[in-house]
Amino acid sequence: MRLSGPRALEIAGLLAPGPPRDPPVRWKSHTLRRAVIRSGGREIDDALVAVMRGPRSYTGEDMAEFHCHGNPLVLARVVEACVREGARPALPGEFTRRAFLNGKMDLSQAEAVARIIEASSDRVLDLARRQAEGELGRRVEKLREALIGLLAEVEARLEFPEEDLGEGEPVAGRIALAAGEWRALAAAQAEGARADCGLRVAIVGKPNAGKSSIFNRLLGADRALVTADRGTTRDAIQEESALGGIKVRLTDTAGICDDHADAAGKASVERSVAALKEAELLIFVADGSKPWSIEDHAIARMTRGKIGLLVLNKKDLGLALDQAGYPAELAGWKRIAASAKEGQGMDEIKRHIIDEYQTLTDKVDGDSAIICSVQQADAIRRCGEAINEAVVLSSTEGLEELIAHELRIAWEALGEITGESAGSELLDKIFSRFCIGK
Ligand code: GDP
Repeated sequence: MRLSGPRALEIAGLLAPGPPRDPPVRWKSHTLRRAVIRSGGREIDDALVAVMRGPRSYTGEDMAEFHCHGNPLVLARVVEACVREGARPALPGEFTRRAFLNGKMDLSQAEAVARIIEASSDRVLDLARRQAEGELGRRVEKLREALIGLLAEVEARLEFPEEDLGEGEPVAGRIALAAGEWRALAAAQAEGARADCGLRVAIVGKPNAGKSSIFNRLLGADRALVTADRGTTRDAIQEESALGGIKVRLTDTAGICDDHADAAGKASVERSVAALKEAELLIFVADGSKPWSIEDHAIARMTRGKIGLLVLNKKDLGLALDQAGYPAELAGWKRIAASAKEGQGMDEIKRHIIDEYQTLTDKVDGDSAIICSVQQADAIRRCGEAINEAVVLSSTEGLEELIAHELRIAWEALGEITGESAGSELLDKIFSRFCIGK
């Protein structure tokens, strides 16, 4: 339970007075002490009370914290007691918002705090941590400074066309440099988006091959219904999972085949085909105990041009797949013999997914990745549009006014990320995503 604001220490003292003549208002900053919390004549909890004085606190204001026993009833009583003494419940993200408004962090750091709280994979957590330390802000600020320098120069040339402003690097060349910096930022954002959304993996194969059983094994839960009837998975089921610290969006597709006569069946086949096309990695599950079927061949044809892993399932029944009858499309794929029933091969499948992810991300400079919210990504996009427009304009003489206009748009768009040009509406939107107490 945390309190922030000018009366925080006083209210803490009313609830947990401590020994006489030594209430929390007199404590040194960053003190943690045991104290009994009392209100309305009764004891609420035996707790630890922390005092942090502004500006050396999270919000930059005086802050007190009660570390109580975790029962929600205890916490509710403490909140009630605080409110009785004049505090009010915080809005979502209000502590972080105050930290931003008091200059403790820029807006990109504040957003990163929300990311840390939400992160569901190691990689995103690492990136969010770096951002909370100011990584995104620093990079955006660097480009922003280049833009404002350019803007000042273009405007000076407009104001004082007669003056000799020196023979520095021509403006067009510097705009092109800024465009290059923007491209690096946009690439880092695209890479972060991949880490954030996870690798899209789809499990495909004919009905009854064991797709749902493998899906469940990989997730370690009975998420998809498994039965011996053909075509039980009537819809594409999607789950997110953190395999080996990376985020994977795993889709179990309905059996792709043409014996679904009714409309619902057709729709589910369509969704499965869409999931197959969208996936970055396919796991093709074949019933290894039976010879290749027409359906296997039909599905294999849809995988053309895709990266995939072939799982020969039902190994426990003996592998009967005819080597000669291999669908040509799957010939180059790595094969894993597995048994979803007995659990063999599952670790190998997981390892392959992780390796594949690493190969895909190694193509980009992984360390430069940044994680952006929808608003931040949009600000980066608008900034790029304006810079690119400025690049085009700068190839023609006499368009300084238009160039200045575009540079200003680009500069302001980036200001939304660091917070310099963020209006209160944008702030409301950002902080409403936080949970209460953060
Ligand atoms: P899907 O239609 O491809 O999703 O297949 P399911 O996962 O629903 O499995 C179909 C049937 O095959 C079920 O009866 C499963 O219990 C069975 N099955 C799945 N994997 C194996 C396996 O490795 N060995 C054996 N013997 N049976 C399996």
